[in-house]
Amino acid sequence: MFCDSHAHLDADSFDADRDEVIARARAAGLTRIISVGAGIAAGRAAIKLAEAYPDLIQPTVGVDPHSAKDMDEPMRAELRKLAAHPLIVAVGETGLDYFHDLSPRDVQQREYRWQVELSIEEKLPLIVHCRDAWDDNFAILNDYARDGLRGVAHCFTGGPDEAERFMELGFLISFSGIVTFKNAKAVQAAAEAVPLEGMLIETDSPYLAPIPKRGKRNEPAYLTYVAEKIAEIKGVAVEEVGRVTGQNAAGLFVRGAA
Ligand SMILES: [Zn+2]
Repeated sequence: MFCDSHAHLDADSFDADRDEVIARARAAGLTRIISVGAGIAAGRAAIKLAEAYPDLIQPTVGVDPHSAKDMDEPMRAELRKLAAHPLIVAVGETGLDYFHDLSPRDVQQREYRWQVELSIEEKLPLIVHCRDAWDDNFAILNDYARDGLRGVAHCFTGGPDEAERFMELGFLISFSGIVTFKNAKAVQAAAEAVPLEGMLIETDSPYLAPIPKRGKRNEPAYLTYVAEKIAEIKGVAVEEVGRVTGQNAAGLFVRGAA
């Protein structure tokens, strides 16, 4: 009944025990995992995983802001080809990251725009990674607001105001293990403000393990810790969090939905 809206199951750190990780996810009650392919090779790997676990895993492909500087015409052509693959359910992750600044900001913006346009052409939702770049992020997304743009703010790190700006664009807000961290007051306030109907939950595994697993390798089974924290914040049963966010994911991660 739970959907992990964002995991990197292709990551090297799962090479030794990927099947066990996936078995533990099922045992924890996960019925859908969006495996995010960050880069061309990762996108291909995500498609292979979806072929191996068709009832559980759905793949995406995109180039994250860190790698935007590597984008060239052959890569764009390959990304376009992969995005058209019938199993792919989203373009991303893409976006802006001015915290790490691993690509020049104008290059991040250019490749973000290109992928926003690709998502609209392919009638796919967009998975947005935004860190310390709110104004530029919303300036870009607002340019496409009337063109069929839809998507999710993944691993949301903002507060209620940023969540509101995403929701005005029709985006869902995806909460990760950050919401379990003691000092994440703004993110917790956002989780209070966003209705369950506007929410997804994710692990972003193998990164960002929630409390009480913080510092360890993260995996989709730990989604239950995120769900429990959201249930506590919203004052509802954890099953309700799973049911509603699962429905939200089913509505979002499909090609051609309005
Ligand atoms: Zn990610």
